[in-house]
Amino acid sequence: MEVSAVKMVLETDTQATYRNVDSNQCPGCPSNLATKLIMNTVFQSCEQRGQKPIIFGQGCGIGRNFLQRSGIGTHDSACVALRAAMEVRGIDRPIVVIDGDGQLDMGFDDFTGAFQLGYPYVHIVCDNQSYAASGSHATGMTDMLARVSTRVTGRVGKPDGRIVMRKQPAMMIMFSGARYSATASPVHLKDFERKIINALDNPPAFIQVIAPCNMSWGYNDDQNAHITRLAVRSGIWPLWEWMGGAFRRTVPHREDRGDESLREYTKAQRRYAHLTDEDIQAMRGYVAELNNLVDRMAVAFPG
Ligand code: SF4
Repeated sequence: MEVSAVKMVLETDTQATYRNVDSNQCPGCPSNLATKLIMNTVFQSCEQRGQKPIIFGQGCGIGRNFLQRSGIGTHDSACVALRAAMEVRGIDRPIVVIDGDGQLDMGFDDFTGAFQLGYPYVHIVCDNQSYAASGSHATGMTDMLARVSTRVTGRVGKPDGRIVMRKQPAMMIMFSGARYSATASPVHLKDFERKIINALDNPPAFIQVIAPCNMSWGYNDDQNAHITRLAVRSGIWPLWEWMGGAFRRTVPHREDRGDESLREYTKAQRRYAHLTDEDIQAMRGYVAELNNLVDRMAVAFPG
């Protein structure tokens, strides 16, 4: 018996839209929308190549399917096992796993170890900077000063705590075996689709997608695209890719409009409602430092 694609899809003979199964997301959930876009691009691209992809994953806004039972934080070793089992049987199909930033925290060894082994698969994270499914506590990707249930002032430790930067898994994995790594935004659609295709062409590959969360970030559910666009425009979510040993920005950062966009970005979300002017200044410094790092990476690894 041929195993049909393990995918989060409801298909009919007449409908080709891809939907997450078995999930009840908030209206306008950005992770849900990003996941549908990813699935559209993967299935359409693979169809043109005559390939049958296997997609699985788990996340608050992503949905879930039976392979999620590989266990939280173990999606990468599940990909390795799947690849190995397929190789034994002479099956060659693209594998894509979609999950959230919490998975990376809980399974960092799993994630980096699988890439280091070099098994060809694509890992895409819809990063909402929180464990949204279980009360919106902090992950390592939670941005500095953003309020979550476990960091009401956005700081780590008490009293008053330290301001710490978020982890940069897309950069970390560059030095742990990835052939392709990128940050992405579903609002920048062409860039987004191109990166998914590049990832399919260069496994093992990783993409970290910004996916705001209506509930955790605190904004009206029709504001997803606006918030995402502001994240890129402000420079707090720089868009870049690393491929063939070369690092480059894929969407330029304009410093002249970054400051205003950062103010707008923080004002639009209740998770930043507690910020003082001093805090905003700290965030400006962080954004400048982050973009400086991205620019230095582009100089260090020219195309
Ligand atoms: S809590 Fe956040 S990530 Fe979860 S379904 Fe709602 S908007 Fe999506």
